[in-house]
Parts: sequence; structure tokens; C-alpha cells
Amino acid sequence: MFYTSTRDSSVRIFSAEAILRGISAEGGLFVPESVPKLSLAELKDLCQKDYIGRAKAVLSGYLSDFTPEEIACCIEGAYGTGKFSDPSVAPVVPLGGGLSMLELWKGPTCAFKDMALQLLPRLMTTALKKMGSNQETVILVATSGDTGKAALEGFRDVPGVRILVFYPNKGVSPMQRLQMVTQEGANVGVCAVEGNFDDAQTGVKAIFTDPRIAETLAERGMCFSSANSINWGRLAPQIVYYVSAYCDLVNRRALSLGEGLNFVVPTGNFGNILAACYAKEMGLPIHKLICASNANRVLTEFIQTGLYDCRREFYTTISPSMDILISSNLERLLYLMSGRDTEQICTWMRELQQSGSYQVSPDLLKKIQSLFAAGCCDDAQTKQTIAKVFREKHYLCDPHTAVGLRVYEDYRAATGDGTPTVVVSTASPFKFGASVLEALQEEKGKRKKEREEDEFNLLEEFSALTGAPCPPQLTGLRGKPIRFAEICTRDTMEQAVFRLLGTG
Ligand SMILES: *Cc1c(COP(=O)(O)O)cnc(C)c1O
Repeated sequence: MFYTSTRDSSVRIFSAEAILRGISAEGGLFVPESVPKLSLAELKDLCQKDYIGRAKAVLSGYLSDFTPEEIACCIEGAYGTGKFSDPSVAPVVPLGGGLSMLELWKGPTCAFKDMALQLLPRLMTTALKKMGSNQETVILVATSGDTGKAALEGFRDVPGVRILVFYPNKGVSPMQRLQMVTQEGANVGVCAVEGNFDDAQTGVKAIFTDPRIAETLAERGMCFSSANSINWGRLAPQIVYYVSAYCDLVNRRALSLGEGLNFVVPTGNFGNILAACYAKEMGLPIHKLICASNANRVLTEFIQTGLYDCRREFYTTISPSMDILISSNLERLLYLMSGRDTEQICTWMRELQQSGSYQVSPDLLKKIQSLFAAGCCDDAQTKQTIAKVFREKHYLCDPHTAVGLRVYEDYRAATGDGTPTVVVSTASPFKFGASVLEALQEEKGKRKKEREEDEFNLLEEFSALTGAPCPPQLTGLRGKPIRFAEICTRDTMEQAVFRLLGTG
């Protein structure tokens, strides 16, 4: 299996190189030249396997340049005993009425990024060995919260790799900051950046593309790589849990083999839902993919009208991991659905960069709408949903997941589509405890109170109110020493990189 670029069909590389390079030289994203097929008979076999067995079967089709032993070693390291707090790794929880939740937050950082970021470092080090490289890899990450911590956990103490994370000083929640600044591991570094996420991201990009810095690193036997969600090595692991959820429902007789299933996905950068689209291309019987957005509704409009327009106000919401106006992975969907029309994609991406928008043809829009539906909701609706689902089903969900549930409710009312449906649950409610608690208390008519208490009192309050136990991944942070208190500015990020690497 070869990989090519969404913007240049002459690119032809193995998956190991695609995973190490992250992005193609002309700016396109790496995509498999063809999609491995999964027959119903093979799907039936997968029903008999556990998560690790399903992951091996699905990923071996995409990573054909890796040996079966290499794939097994990476997957067992990522999802083996003790890594995820639930033995099934990605449990499916029924809520009744043909609706289930796929809980992707049982990993070390309580958000779905762990599903990919536990595996990516192992794929990268294996790829480095295969390519015969003996350089030390420096992973640079700019994060708005969840990715940074998941990447730190995934890459910590991985031989041959260093990881540096920059987060906006005022742009992450107190719990997210604590998760990062107490990070253990001999190869990790964390630094706050004055400003917002864009400042951190722009700074990281500038360092990535500065040939002078690359040269200095090379002299020290190091090179940069990236762990952000456009890396194919983050996308491929996400295909597995869609297949796995389908198998779980068949085993539970909630679905018969071959019957259609809907997935609702709380979406930001379009990575998670794109993995579902690949699962469908493989042959998984998916009826509809429902793309759920918060007040940043650029994807809802695109899927409903074919116009992608990011010239709009940016909203900061209680589902911050979905506060995105440029969904990078949409480019891979355009590639799949336009019949691999790289020239057309170059045109759209140029228009997006120059004027902030592009419009796809009616034919392409029809094709997209045959698989995708879309909807959005605001913070008030998100909070109402958290309270309502807890009241009616005694199920606690985080704000991102609540957006998915709300959009599904609207979709079902509008279409009458009674197909069995799975809502993808992307974070533990405890990770966003303050917003969830507020939603539950507001419903009880309590006034919003100013919070003086620290994060841990809040977790306990939340646990007492709901009867749900606090995840040890979060309570275990209490009293941990702060290792990284440094703050830099965009202009001093370069010095921070070398200082954290111990070579400044
Ligand atoms: C990253 C994230 C999302 C958005 O996922 P995409 O792959 O970017 O669409 C949704 N919810 C949570 C909790 C996340 O961390």
C-alpha cells in the first residue's frame, strides 16, 4: 500500500515515511492510494476478537510496509493491560431507544486524543528504525488543551524522541494546565506562551519552517516532527474504534451483521469523523455520519450548502476542543469524494487561503450529503442537554459529547431516521467538571456562584452530586510537584526550545 498527497498525485511513499513526515512538501495531506476492503465475513470474524485483535486486523491493511510483528508490538504497547481503565478500551454503553455511547476517554488523559496518541509514538519509533535513521526526533506541539497532554503521555520516555509542548497562558482550563505542568518523563518539556492558541500555533509553525533552526538541530543529531491531527499516524488508529463499536453491537444483538448504523461525531478539525468515513469506505455498514458542531458552525453550513466560509466571528465555547474555523482534515474528505481530483483541491485550498472561502459543485455536495448530515448548537443548548440526559437517563456527558447528543436529537426529529445510532463520547465529564456542574446546578435553579475552591474540591463536589467516581488520572494530580513554570513570548519561543532541550 502506497501513500500519495491530496495536492500532488506524483507523490508515492510508504506509510512509515508518511507518518514521519506528517505533511507533504507542497502542503497536501498524505492519503492511502486505495482503501483496504473489509468483507462481511471478515467483519464477522472481528466480532470474535478483542480490541487489540480488531486493531491488528484493521491497521495491517493500512500499514503494509510494517511487519505483523511490528504492528502487534505497537498495538499491544498502546492498548495492552493497564493502559486504559476499561478492559474493552473503547466501551459501548447503551442508553436505550437504539442509542448508544462510544466512550473514547478511558485512556491516561481522559480525552479521545489518547486513542491515537498512545499508538502514534510507537509507530513513529518503528518507522524511524525502518528508515534507518539514527537522529533524535523532536516533537513540537502547540495545544489548546487536550492534544498537549495526550501527546506528552504518549511520547514520555519513548527512546529516541523528545517532546516539547507550548500552550497559551490564558487559553487552557486549570485542570488542563495542571495535567501538563506536572508531566513526568525525562524527555518532556512544557512552556506557556503569552497570548492565545493562535500565538502558540504561529510560533510553532515559524520554528518548524525556519531552515536556520533545522540546521542547528541537525548539528546536534536532532530533527523536528509533528504529532498534530493531520498526521496519518493519528488518523489510522481512529478507524479501529468504529469497526469495534459495530462488532460490539452485533455481539449484543443490538444490530444484525450487515445492518446500517449511524455515528454522531462532535467535530473540530474533522479528524475523528473522517476516520469513520474511511471505515465506511472499507465496507463497514454505516448509514449516516452526523457531524456535530458548537457555535462555530462552519462545517454545518458547508455540509448543508457546499460553501466553506471561515470569514466569521470566532466563538469561545464550553466545548473548546471544537472551537475551530479551519478544519484541516476536510481536505482528505474532498479528495475521497471528488474522485481524487488533486488539481481541484489545490484550487479550493488556494481560494481558502486567499479569500477565506470556497464552494464545491452541486454534484459533489450531493455526494457528500448522501453520507453526511450536520447540525450545531450553542452553549445554552449544550448545558440543557447535559442536565436533561442526566435527569432522564442518569448518564453524565461532557460538553463536547453533549453537542453530539443535542444535534442527534434535532436530526432524529427532523428526519424520523430510526436507524440504530452511536454518539461518539470524546471526553470524560470530569475533565470539564466546572461546566458540567454548572449545567446540572443551573437546572436546579441554583445561582451560578463564584468559585474560589480549587479544582480538586470541584471534582469532589461533582462526584458527590452525581455519584460518579472521580477518575484517578485527575485526582492523582493533587500535590504533584510543578515541573514546568516557565512562560515565554512568541519572540522567545526559539530560545525556550533550546533551553528545554538542554542545548541552549
Ligand atoms: C479534539 C477533540 C474533538 C474534536 O475532534 P476532531 O478530530 O478535531 O474533529 C472533540 N472533542 C474533544 C474532547 C476533543 O479533544
